[in-house]
Amino acid sequence: MQQAVEERINEKEIVCVVCPNSCRLTVWEDKLGEVHVSGNKCPRGVVYGKSEYTHPVRMLITTMRVEGGVLPVIPVRSEKPIPKELLLKAIKVVNEHYCQAPVKMGQILLRDILGTGVNVIASRDLMQDENKKIAFSIYDEMSPEEIVQQTLVEDLFDKKQNLTFEEKEKLERIKKHLVERLSPHFNKM
Ligand code: SF4
Repeated sequence: MQQAVEERINEKEIVCVVCPNSCRLTVWEDKLGEVHVSGNKCPRGVVYGKSEYTHPVRMLITTMRVEGGVLPVIPVRSEKPIPKELLLKAIKVVNEHYCQAPVKMGQILLRDILGTGVNVIASRDLMQDENKKIAFSIYDEMSPEEIVQQTLVEDLFDKKQNLTFEEKEKLERIKKHLVERLSPHFNKM
């Protein structure tokens, strides 16, 4: 006897990001509301697929403004992933905040973002500025994108050993651009 074809409700394709295998998962609900996963090579994919299907979460990665630091912004991240639907709102909240230099990597800069119970922490150290006027005169000449880019480049260079060849090349190109762009200011110092 032929078996009835199972009805798949709201079927989605999700890439598992738990390990570098990047399995393509298919996730769906049955008529009883139970969630099913296929395409996984290991049980962790089932857990990830169900969680991503029912309640997707993302790490918050952005920058926060700093008062009295050697740089005007610092890269920050959430301690744990937060609900995906709150991500943009949370980034806005973080971007509107200031923290005070010096800052230590891992320091909590914002507690319980949007009532999620998750803290926002610094992704790097940031020293207090001993020569604030000179530093800020340079940043005054930069666009906000360049300031953020410079901060991120410095942060990435700290972790350069973990980067792929392409990432390192891209980083070198951005750094070269920033050095060319800022060299007239550094020469004045
Ligand atoms: S299903 Fe398992 S093997 Fe596949 S990407 Fe996820 S964790 Fe890796």
